[in-house]
Amino acid sequence: RAKEAGKNTYQFFAAEMNAQAIERLQLESGLRQALERGEFELHFQPIVAAETHRLEALEVLLRWRHPELGLVPPVRFIPLAEETGLIRPIGDWVIRQACRQLADWDCLGLHVPRLAINLSARQFEQQALIVQVAGALAEAGIAAGRLELEMTESMVMQNPCEAVSLLGELKALGVRLSIDDFGTGYSSLSYLKRFPLDTLKIDRSFIEGLPGDGDNAAIAEAILAMARKLSFSVVAEGVETEAQAAFLSAKGCQLLQGYLFSRPLPAGELTAWLRRQTPQPRTADTGTMAS
Ligand code: C2E
Ligand code: MG
Ligand code: MG
Ligand code: MG
Repeated sequence: RAKEAGKNTYQFFAAEMNAQAIERLQLESGLRQALERGEFELHFQPIVAAETHRLEALEVLLRWRHPELGLVPPVRFIPLAEETGLIRPIGDWVIRQACRQLADWDCLGLHVPRLAINLSARQFEQQALIVQVAGALAEAGIAAGRLELEMTESMVMQNPCEAVSLLGELKALGVRLSIDDFGTGYSSLSYLKRFPLDTLKIDRSFIEGLPGDGDNAAIAEAILAMARKLSFSVVAEGVETEAQAAFLSAKGCQLLQGYLFSRPLPAGELTAWLRRQTPQPRTADTGTMAS
């Protein structure tokens, strides 16, 4: 009986592994053509001021609209894109497309103060990043200060000396720099001060369960106190409840991001969201105010 069960388990795992291997192959071959086929799209998630709930920035989140698999989330293809090196052209597209979208919103008179773009470790390794960012800004006519680049602790701590110089060059362009998922990686507090950083984003895992979770409350408060002393601004990620928002705001967190305010939305839906935030001017033909 045990043997029988073992065999079934084995067959189950074999089938499961096979399915995973097939999906990986499917994703990998698809990923090579996805850029040319225009299958990538950007979604945008509001980051709001804790006090006023006004829009301060949008985080740019990449999606892949796969012809058979539907909308593929980044966790399923970014690691593959990093392994294959495809993340470089993809990352370049993200930066350019995001800047174009920001220029489009400007043209519509919809005010988006800033965009936050995620960088991968592979993009961060290369000098070409500076040229890409500068090119995308110039092409779209966007001021550098309206772009914030998010990177993780491990990306900068892997090679702190090189990171200091690369971050210095990015900073010289005028872009803002932030540490994503702060608290989950390993970072040296002395380096934190030496890097020209603007923002720390407290990882969602520390926001979960606030204010009841005592450990997370202590961690969030400690990060906020340190950030205040070092003059970093702080974004809390993954804010889903009013109680979390109230606690974070009371502890001095200026910026909040999470489903409580909005899920990441495609550009069209985000445009509608922006219109709801910005009172529309009275139009002569209807004589009514848009809500
Ligand atoms: P991240 O940069 O930490 O992005 C935040 C993630 O949390 C997003 O997942 C977002 O949808 C999710 N999120 C936001 N608010 C809430 C909330 O209230 N509750 C919960 N449960 N989740 C929330 P997403 O879009 O699946 O992205 C996952 C990760 O993929 C990102 O984590 C980022 O590391 C990476 N990523 C996304 N776009 C890009 C990109 O263009 N380039 C690179 N290199 N990485 C990207
Ligand atoms: Mg991020
Ligand atoms: Mg994050
Ligand atoms: Mg995260």
